[in-house]
Amino acid sequence: MAATPWQGKTIVAVNVWLAAAVAALLMTAALTLWELLQTTPPWAQALQLLGLLLSLCALLGLTRQQARQLELAKSEKLLLHQRVLEAVNAMPAGFDLWDSEDRLVLHNQVLEQQFAALGPLLQDGARFEDLVRESLKLGLVKEAMGREQAWLDERLRGRKAAGASANQPILHRYGERWTHVYQTRVPSGDLVSVRMDVTDLIETQQELARVQAVALQNQRLLEQAIDAMPAGIEIFDAQDRLVKANRRMQAWQPHQDYAQAQGQSFEALLRASLAHGALPAEAIGREDEWVAQRLASRGQTHEPLLNQLPNGLWLQTYETRTPEGYLLAVHQDVSDLVAKEQQLKASQTELEAIIRTAAVAIFTIDAQGQILSCNPASERLFGYAPSELVGQNINLLMDEPERSHHDHYLRRYAERGMGTLRGRPTEFHALHKSGRSLTVQVAVSEVRKPDGPLFVGVISDLTERKQFETELQHANERLLRLSTTDALTELANRRLLMQKLEEEWRRGLRTGTPLSLLLVDVDHFKLFNDHYGHQAGDEALIKVAQALSTSANRPADLVARYGGEEFVLLLAQTDVEGAMAVAERCREELRSAAIEHVLSSHSEYLTLSIGMSSAVPVRGGSASQWLAQADLALYQAKAQGRDRVVLAQLFGPV
Ligand code: GH3
Ligand code: MG
Ligand code: MG
Repeated sequence: MAATPWQGKTIVAVNVWLAAAVAALLMTAALTLWELLQTTPPWAQALQLLGLLLSLCALLGLTRQQARQLELAKSEKLLLHQRVLEAVNAMPAGFDLWDSEDRLVLHNQVLEQQFAALGPLLQDGARFEDLVRESLKLGLVKEAMGREQAWLDERLRGRKAAGASANQPILHRYGERWTHVYQTRVPSGDLVSVRMDVTDLIETQQELARVQAVALQNQRLLEQAIDAMPAGIEIFDAQDRLVKANRRMQAWQPHQDYAQAQGQSFEALLRASLAHGALPAEAIGREDEWVAQRLASRGQTHEPLLNQLPNGLWLQTYETRTPEGYLLAVHQDVSDLVAKEQQLKASQTELEAIIRTAAVAIFTIDAQGQILSCNPASERLFGYAPSELVGQNINLLMDEPERSHHDHYLRRYAERGMGTLRGRPTEFHALHKSGRSLTVQVAVSEVRKPDGPLFVGVISDLTERKQFETELQHANERLLRLSTTDALTELANRRLLMQKLEEEWRRGLRTGTPLSLLLVDVDHFKLFNDHYGHQAGDEALIKVAQALSTSANRPADLVARYGGEEFVLLLAQTDVEGAMAVAERCREELRSAAIEHVLSSHSEYLTLSIGMSSAVPVRGGSASQWLAQADLALYQAKAQGRDRVVLAQLFGPV
């Protein structure tokens, strides 16, 4: 350090006083020696005295000069202390200086703020240990709680061991504040501490650590979630290197060691898969080309990719690029769906084959009645090629009245739903392309589709069946007529008569209405046959039948041939008078026919004898008794001379 001008002047003044004192002393000593060698003359004695005086003056001056210098040095030291204090107070950190006995020598204001809790205890001269004990008592050292003495011992040991450099700060917590303490043992043995408040830094670090812990936990959760997902997930970085694959992926691709595969390129993984037989059918024989295509389309298409694993599983893959360029591949097991789709395709093919070969016409039409499709049988039935029908309205194939009603049907269906649709097979009048009428049977069912309903109509030709049915019906009717009709006269035969007789008897029982029965016999017909021949006899019987039919003209009346030349007229709801009138009409009609009978005993024409029974049926009686009574009356008519009507006298329940 260079001397100041003030310091230079002081040194010169001290030296002058010192030279003067030394000169005076030398002179005094010389004179004293002179005195010892010879007798001292008076002037010498005077000189000796003067020398002593001068020495004293010089020493006095020297002493005063020394005192002044001491004074000056004192004020100099004070000034220096003041300047040092100002300097340390200007520091943004706490500062403290301790002597070798660990007493506080110097500290700044920041330190006072940092240890404000210690109050007046914190002053120069205070012992470090006392200050620490007070802090422990106040509970300001959280890390020492419960082990205060041990902590203090450790702290004091650490202080003693403090080195000459303080590169590594010690982190202290005091109250709620954190400080970095730089502790240095200086050559004098003093300990200097600089205490930087790093509370904000520590809190930021703690917050960062907390956020990192949360982030780590979230990442673990995310990984667990990815592993637990029912889909296979692979994540690749912007360079297409594997970052992560989840457990499901590992289970599906056991040949891939995903733990080892991290960082490997997608291409390497793809080729490894191919080597293990995970080769799609379209890649066989052109693996390199296929790989190149696969890589080119990587993450480019929004359409999912479908491929089959060697174990048979079908995976559907969606590839998505993140804004950071990562590629997220999500694989879903769609084996069930694929199997169902294959089943569906198979059944669709089967259905198409059935529709193609079906003998019935099958149409699909939309809600407006427009034909969407039809099968080959439609052409056989209606004469139109499918291409002529598709796009046409189905009413093209309808005959009246269905044609006019069809649009109305569809409208009602749209309003009310299935209720008005021809769900059950219904007969329908249809039209062939040639204009020929067809009778068809139609069954319509509805297929609900997202874009509106679709109707499937199955149409079978009933025309031939209808004709056959009509013929059959006619044949049956003929058969029935034959079985109930007399072949010669075409009247009801005896079988039908007996059946009707029973029915009318029961009806009469229920209603209490009268019934009449005429048993008619041609008189001397044997003689007629004998005389005119059998052929003429037959013709005469036909005429008799006509006469009887003409006479009984109410719808409920039945005229039947009972057998041979005998007939019965069954007159429902007819009393005696009515029946008598009919009987007389019969005789009259035959008389009008004037059939010659030359061998008759009582007339020149053919005549009739009629036995009549008329009654209200009663319980206990029977139709056969009723007939028997008519027979009896007929017998009486014969006995009384023929050509007459006799009413049964004895009729009534037996
Ligand atoms: P009566 O006046 O007593 O009834 O005398 P009848 O000759 O009519 O009665 P009889 O019972 O003796 O004869 C009935 C005759 O009717 C016998 C038969 O030759 C004749 N006859 C019955 N059925 C037919 C038939 O289908 N065709 C013809 N041609 N004759 C028939
Ligand atoms: Mg007879
Ligand atoms: Mg007769």
